[in-house]
Order: sequence, then C-alpha cells, then structure tokens
Amino acid sequence: MLDAKDPIGRLIGELSRLPGVGEKTAARLAYHILRQPKALARNLANALNDVCDKVRLCSICQNLTADDPCFYCSDAKRDPAVVCVVESVQALRAIDRTNEFRGRFHVLHGALSPLDGIGPDDLHIGELMTRLKSGEVREVICALNPTIEGDATTLYLQRLVAPLGIRLTRLAHGVAVGSDLEYTDQATLVRALSGRREV
Ligand SMILES: [Zn+2]
Repeated sequence: MLDAKDPIGRLIGELSRLPGVGEKTAARLAYHILRQPKALARNLANALNDVCDKVRLCSICQNLTADDPCFYCSDAKRDPAVVCVVESVQALRAIDRTNEFRGRFHVLHGALSPLDGIGPDDLHIGELMTRLKSGEVREVICALNPTIEGDATTLYLQRLVAPLGIRLTRLAHGVAVGSDLEYTDQATLVRALSGRREV
C-alpha cells in the first residue's frame, strides 16, 4: 500500500492516475525523477503549475491556449469563412500538421454519446452556433472521428447548420472506421480533407 503522507508515495500515487500509467510505471518514473538533478523535478512542477494557471479555452474556437484568442483565431492568413469542427485539441493538431487546411477550427471537446450521458449541452456547440450566426462562415467541415459518436454528432450538427444556409461537409472515407483522427497518418488526412463531401 502507498503511504499517502510519504512524499514519494504521493508522487507515485499522482503519477499512477495518468492514462496508461500503472503503479509499476509510476514508481519507475518517480524513482527516475528522484535520481536526476533537482532541476528536472522543479522544471516539471513549474510546467504543470504554468499549465494550470495559464492555459484556458480560446473564447472563439475553444482550443486550449495561453493567449486568447488563440494562435489559429488570431492568424489573419487563415480563412474565417471555413471552420473545421473537431472533437479534441489533439485532432486539431493532427489536421494542422498536414499543412493542407488554412481555415479556422472549432473544438467540441467530445462527441455526442447518450450511453455515456454526453448530450449537446456537454459539448461546445452553443459557441459554434454563435460563430456561425455571425454570417462570416460559408462552410463547416465536420472532421469528427469515424465512430458512432462522431457520426451522430455530424448528423446533429447538420440539422442545426442546414437552416443557416451554410455548406456542411465531412471528411471523405479513408480514415479507418472506429479510429481516432489523432492517430491517423498525414497522407490519409490530406486525402480525407481534399475529398470531403456534403453531409
Ligand atoms: Zn481560437
């Protein structure tokens, strides 16, 4: 049993809460940190503190950012008429890495999943609708994961977006069903983006 009052036990306990890190790995990481110069642990602690204190959601696209509006929303070279809707910041980064998309983003922070109790109010759909009603957007690209939840979210968005007269497209097939855009290779993402079609 870990001793919650022992600093090493606490560190192992906190590390083991991270995804994919069991108690053995947590212990290995903790003892590795302890063997290194103190600067490593202090820098890690400072980075975690900075993330807690400075990172928030962009008030426009809901990306995680230290500056509001974020890097993408303040880039004048990006086309504000095309908005790519993604489930996660990791998916945003995956699409950005392709260098093929020069529009703006919107991060929902999830997808509809009634079984898990995730409904429209749990996603950042309201903020998206506010953006769309500003009249600047001509196309919404649904770049959601090819899962039941992602598809359900795309169809839900279609019902909301259609009355606004805005074109709604989705990524072309090619991204493996059930997969996560974050882990999709760049060539596939580029093809999926350029072959996008109306919902
Ligand atoms: Zn933003």
